[in-house]
Amino acid sequence: MARIGFAGLGNMGGPMARNLVKAGHQVAVFDIVPDLVARCVAVGALAAGSAADAARDADLVVTMLPAGQHVRDAWLGVGGMAAASRPDAVLVDCSTIDVATAREVAAGCGRAFLDAPVSGGVMGAENATLTFMVGGPDAAFAAAEPILKQMGRAAIHCGGAGAGQAAKACNNMILAATMIATCEAFVLAEKLGLTHQALFDVVSKSSGQSWSVTTYCPVPGPVPASPANRDYAPGFSAALMLKDLGLAAEAAAQTGAETPMGAKALELYRAFVDAGNGGKDFSGIIRTLRT
Ligand code: NAD
Repeated sequence: MARIGFAGLGNMGGPMARNLVKAGHQVAVFDIVPDLVARCVAVGALAAGSAADAARDADLVVTMLPAGQHVRDAWLGVGGMAAASRPDAVLVDCSTIDVATAREVAAGCGRAFLDAPVSGGVMGAENATLTFMVGGPDAAFAAAEPILKQMGRAAIHCGGAGAGQAAKACNNMILAATMIATCEAFVLAEKLGLTHQALFDVVSKSSGQSWSVTTYCPVPGPVPASPANRDYAPGFSAALMLKDLGLAAEAAAQTGAETPMGAKALELYRAFVDAGNGGKDFSGIIRTLRT
């Protein structure tokens, strides 16, 4: 049993914190929304009065917050979690943020710090099947890994500070590009008189295969659990995909990497979100391709 502090109990953090309680840990929780704290207390978590209080005395402290500014403020701001935590605590940020801020917080917090963004979405958080992509020191990863695996099925140590966020940005840039290409192929198939099922059967066993086809097929039918079968209710929202593509574009600009497909995906998702589809699943972008 470890003592764990957890701040940020939203769509992802709430179920993650509850899974740590279920695993038998003592979990002190905080969110600025009291109802979200109450949902965790109902299953056995301890309510903390502030993020710093959640961090105090914990062996491991976790944040799951919206964006980089929230993460910087929560850890390094006045009354921040880093200063409140024990000097030997392991600090873990699971939010998706930019690489530069992750490195800044890791350098500024004066403790062993891991950036550990996740893949797997809300279902993955609820079912403890997330994948963690982790950056930071070896010893901190070794200490955190067993606990991360109680919230997910894999934790991959990608390198030093910021490496987890770098892996997440690269992964989601691939995901956006393959989803758009998959949507284009299904729309082309419709115009050529090919059924959705026929294209799925071929592509899922051929070189066009990807997660966007076999797990998350953007048309209803071939994969019954995909969001296309429920009017593109998320899933993984287009707004979050746009956020992640923005982080990838920022990283590309800072490093001088050429990412023309990533840039095009960003442009298409920005138009999709601006048209009022931010709350739809990101696979719903297929609708904008049918003219
Ligand atoms: P969310 O908005 O549902 O949850 C964020 C929570 O942080 C909110 O409950 C908010 O009240 C709380 N919060 C904000 N400032 C705080 C503070 N100072 N102290 C304590 N709590 C504070 O967002 P989410 O969907 O849970 O996403 C969290 C992170 O995970 C984001 O960085 C997101 O990009 C990433 N992510 C989300 C998904 C997904 O499918 N939702 C998938 C992968 C990664």
